[in-house]
Amino acid sequence: MSNSNKSQGTQAIILGIGDELLRGDYADLNSSLLARTLLQHGWTVLEIRVVPDDLHTLADAMADAGKRADLVISTGGLGPTDDDLTRHAAARAGGCELGFQEGAWQMVLDWYGKSDRTPPESNRRQALVPEGATPLHNPSGTAPGLRMELGRATLFCLPGPPREVGPMVELELKPWLGLHGPEGQFLHTSRVYLASLSESQFADEAGALLERHAHALVGVTAQAGRLAVTITARAATPEQAKGSAEAIQAQFLERFASHVYSTTEPTLEKVLGLKLIERGISVTVAESCTLGLVAAALGGVSGISKVLSETYCTYSNGAKTRRLGVDTAMLEQHGAVSEPVAQAMALGAAREASARLSVAITGLAGPDGGTEAKPVGLVCFACALDGQVVAVESKRFAPAGRAAIRAWATNRALHLLLLALGAPA
Ligand code: ATP
Repeated sequence: MSNSNKSQGTQAIILGIGDELLRGDYADLNSSLLARTLLQHGWTVLEIRVVPDDLHTLADAMADAGKRADLVISTGGLGPTDDDLTRHAAARAGGCELGFQEGAWQMVLDWYGKSDRTPPESNRRQALVPEGATPLHNPSGTAPGLRMELGRATLFCLPGPPREVGPMVELELKPWLGLHGPEGQFLHTSRVYLASLSESQFADEAGALLERHAHALVGVTAQAGRLAVTITARAATPEQAKGSAEAIQAQFLERFASHVYSTTEPTLEKVLGLKLIERGISVTVAESCTLGLVAAALGGVSGISKVLSETYCTYSNGAKTRRLGVDTAMLEQHGAVSEPVAQAMALGAAREASARLSVAITGLAGPDGGTEAKPVGLVCFACALDGQVVAVESKRFAPAGRAAIRAWATNRALHLLLLALGAPA
């Protein structure tokens, strides 16, 4: 996604919503993130206001902010319970109806679908949208955000939890800011999506590329080995802005060639799944330490059943032998977490599923079970294509907790499958 546009006024008001904030139960992290982001983009924050969970007060605060600023951003109050009133207050402030919207409901369904669940009835409330408002994708939680016009302002309503706000700032707010920068300037945003890289490895390797460019802002978000780099350039004409954003983008593409998986699609499994479907390459997965996470990621790609018929969750040695034909002597000699076993799992899964491409993961997610030779965080991978092992490796992920290790291993396995296709972005 790349955009250029003319900018307008740049005064903003931030609203932190919630009785808990007023009680001092936690610090207002969202407002400080938003204030920093706005400042970086050349905006002036007129006011940061904390508002209780009260419909009238909230609606009045929004309406008032919409008269005095060009941008109003609220966080909190988008949950499914009766005290989550942000949607209702936004509709009231805008003098419009609040209605159930299929697009917003689909976002809620998609979120639950990721973990094979259906949302409870109370979640329908999260698909209520003020008339004319746009629901905003929330990649880390149930509650879709909202964007609508309110008075002279554009109003963004984001959820409360900071771990949901951060990604939405990257994916929704920053691109919007890129289009609505300070007067007389044109902005253009280009992106690069990378895999199999930590934020610190990225920072080390990016070096000077990350230093503040005179007319461009480079932002990075990282999640379990996936990184999104957003380059927003500012210039006197749309062409110049596009040219300088793309020139910086080209430097990242060159520097990180083996990590780039897209310049347009943020979801690694989608890039992979669509390539498999397009090329008609059948795929399978044999998972020990991730136990279904890679399969679930692929299952999130629409149409994947065209190329994926079955996958294998094989925790025990017995299951590895019985279902994938891994030799017991090999398991005894090398241990389940070893490259030979990963290779045998990948080949066995491909054979059993009659798939052309396969990946196997076997590792120690911890927190228990590590040894000096095989510490927690050690994960072995193998990838096979047309009966040949095309990649085998051992990774030592930081012992950052079971969930983090499994998430990193999942993303690495997806990336290995993509690399096996020899597929540049
Ligand atoms: P949920 O769907 O999780 O209920 P929500 O959009 O309704 O999300 P709130 O219920 O207002 O959000 O807040 C949920 C949690 O997010 C709070 O309990 C708090 O831990 C955190 N939170 C909310 N606002 C802030 C803030 N401004 N700064 C830091 N943490 C916040």
